[in-house]
Amino acid sequence: MDIAAPHSTDPLLDPEEPDLSDLDPKDWTAARAQAHRMLDDILDHVQQVREGPVWRPIPEAVRAEFAASLPWSPCDLADVHADFKRLILPHATGNLHPRFMGWVHGGGNVAGMLADMLAAGLNANLGGRDHIPVEVERQVTRWMAELFGFPAQASGLFVTGTSLANLIAVLAARADALGSGSRIDGVAQGVGGLVAYASAAAHSCIAKALDIAGLGSGALRLIATDDAGRMDPARLAPVIAADRAAGLQPFLIVGTAGTVDIGAVDDLTALADIAEREHLWLHVDGAFGALGRLSPDLAPLFAGIERAQSIAFDFHKWGQAPYDAGFVLMRDEAKHRAAFASTAPYLERQARGMAAGQPWLCDYGPDLSRGFRALKVWFAFKTYGAAAIGRAIAKTCRLAQALARGVDAEPELERLAPVALNIVCFRYRGPDADRLNAEIVTALQESGVAAPSTTVLDGRLAIRAAIVNHRTRAEDIDILVREVLRLGRALSGSFGDAS
Ligand SMILES: *Cc1c(COP(=O)(O)O)cnc(C)c1O
Repeated sequence: MDIAAPHSTDPLLDPEEPDLSDLDPKDWTAARAQAHRMLDDILDHVQQVREGPVWRPIPEAVRAEFAASLPWSPCDLADVHADFKRLILPHATGNLHPRFMGWVHGGGNVAGMLADMLAAGLNANLGGRDHIPVEVERQVTRWMAELFGFPAQASGLFVTGTSLANLIAVLAARADALGSGSRIDGVAQGVGGLVAYASAAAHSCIAKALDIAGLGSGALRLIATDDAGRMDPARLAPVIAADRAAGLQPFLIVGTAGTVDIGAVDDLTALADIAEREHLWLHVDGAFGALGRLSPDLAPLFAGIERAQSIAFDFHKWGQAPYDAGFVLMRDEAKHRAAFASTAPYLERQARGMAAGQPWLCDYGPDLSRGFRALKVWFAFKTYGAAAIGRAIAKTCRLAQALARGVDAEPELERLAPVALNIVCFRYRGPDADRLNAEIVTALQESGVAAPSTTVLDGRLAIRAAIVNHRTRAEDIDILVREVLRLGRALSGSFGDAS
């Protein structure tokens, strides 16, 4: 039987035709040389990042280049890389830079960057099945259980970020409160409905998680904070009691370890006591703060976190991992699995073969296909050692203290919040200070010298410097203070007249 015959008229299958469907390089030697150039270029960029501006305003002509339509024809890899260098590289956020202090962005690291390249080369899918990449994620989970004082059987999952990690915890707590039958029947609203508690300074993604969970953001009670920005536990118990009296069903307390505005850490021991007494799930949003446990200096601030049911945090913030690398850690693996596991004939598990290795990681969250995020974190912990990451975290807190002292020593500046961790909120004094300080921050960003962001505290606009990056040094703090003073003096004339 001639099996080649039916194919011979099909050019896609004809061995005599040039194969334009195989995407591997036609010339591996040239591809290899180009790959090395790309690696060298990005390493140069990281090595020299301090010399360049933090950020540049984006010229309209650059933005316009991204209006081009879908390219149907090929182009040399070298030419695409040239576009990357010309258009993308110079116009990124700049969070690698030691004077990027906006929002809470991590600075990344080289071991993690290289690991991400290896992970992409391996192209592993960590949704399930029996392969060692899954064991890497399980090992990182055990490392985190060790770090946070969780049982060794605790489960964990890499996700995009803490927004999703918080959502997973809310869904697990919901299934625990209502029973896993609620996954079929849905969630009843109104009387008997679930309610949750967090501090008024909790991140907006907590309310969003309750919304997505079908409970409504209105089911989140925001408890007032004390002078240090921590949830006031004395105010929590009466709110829980009032909700119970109204026929509602309290199910979840969300503590924050490192509030997004000022870095305050809730009294997690007090929250754990209340959660225990009230039989509520305690979840900790430790997005940027929780990895402070890696620093022996800071670890005591997080006492009580080991009593939580679940913790969400980001390796891509204080953990210095390249984006994205959020993580959720769950005390009770069975509850975690009960909230997310599902079956399908095409996902049948087996005792042997590639379909072995259950529970699969897709049983712990909404994603089925999942990339190998764990590898960049695994590489960084092994390469640098956990202590070095802890030192980088501790250093950012020392720098924040230095910045706070610098601000306090300048009569023209005022500090707007206590500094618990690595975030300093302050401003230039003067008439129309909200507009003036917003302008100072914008001008700073546009100058490329430094990039803090802003927040509003007690109705007053603050310059917010979050020092997250392991590359930041004392000299960078001095430059920030000097530039804020220079811009404040230069700009306050034009704002002062208005009042
Ligand atoms: C950053 C942050 C989040 C959101 O995390 P993402 O990784 O951006 O999704 C949630 N909570 C706090 C306290 C944060 O600082």
